[in-house]
Amino acid sequence: TSSDGTQSPSELVETAAAAGLDVLAITDHDTVGGWEEATAAALRTGMTLVRGIEISCRQDGRSVHLLGYLTDPVASGLMAELARARKSRVTRLRLMVGKLAAAGIPLTYAEVQAQVAPGATPGRPHIADALVANGTVAHRDEAFATWLHDRSEFYVDHYAPHPAHAVRLVREAGGVAVIAHPFTRSQGRAVPDRLVEELAEVGLAGVEVDHPDHGDEERRRGEQLARSLGLLVTGSSDYHGSGKGNRLGQHTTHPEVLREIEDRSSGRTEVVRP
Ligand code: AMP
Repeated sequence: TSSDGTQSPSELVETAAAAGLDVLAITDHDTVGGWEEATAAALRTGMTLVRGIEISCRQDGRSVHLLGYLTDPVASGLMAELARARKSRVTRLRLMVGKLAAAGIPLTYAEVQAQVAPGATPGRPHIADALVANGTVAHRDEAFATWLHDRSEFYVDHYAPHPAHAVRLVREAGGVAVIAHPFTRSQGRAVPDRLVEELAEVGLAGVEVDHPDHGDEERRRGEQLARSLGLLVTGSSDYHGSGKGNRLGQHTTHPEVLREIEDRSSGRTEVVRP
């Protein structure tokens, strides 16, 4: 709930423990707001916790998500960029709600705000949740399929850095940059190989290959690309609670790769070990 999941950081950690996982990464969109609560829950439940973020980026009109693992939460460059993005997300959400309401879809900004936890990064899923709450749609997916998808007439952009800039900021913050689900199509066009190559030149460390949005072909392609560029291969379930169908622990990262991520980080933010 620090961004667009449906569970609090503690609930997330507890769900992971109950599912038998021993390592979990928390990567909310554009915020480290969930770290403190997740850390306390990890220590309580015996979970190893990798703290990170998922930065919403844009390149050539395409949405690109960048994972920053073990970033320093007080690194000024990265934090300023995230604050800028979060501020712009608020304006954007107001504009989207205005467009939807003008088209006769029953929705107010107050209803959307009621879905955003205090201090959380607001996003389209919160509009979807408000539409579910007031009975206009049955589920988040329905809201995305009808009005909230990237090509919808109601879609409005928010400020998002170029992914190469975000990679540099993650590196400056002592973290390890991994491109998230590059071949997912649900969020617009897939990322072209040449962008991953460009990002590798500025310090990208890995590619998230094992992901619910990737089929066998995308995984093969991802592995090949990572191998050709000397990048790490990661996997994660991109779990959002009941907000998405993804199951927690559906995809995982090899322990060797986690060790490598840890070794490559500055150590300013450590993996939490109980
Ligand atoms: P935003 O960052 O506000 O543009 O919203 C994008 C987020 O919406 C993504 O990171 C996903 O978590 C979520 N999302 C995208 N498509 C769907 C969908 N069909 N159902 C539920 N959540 C979605």
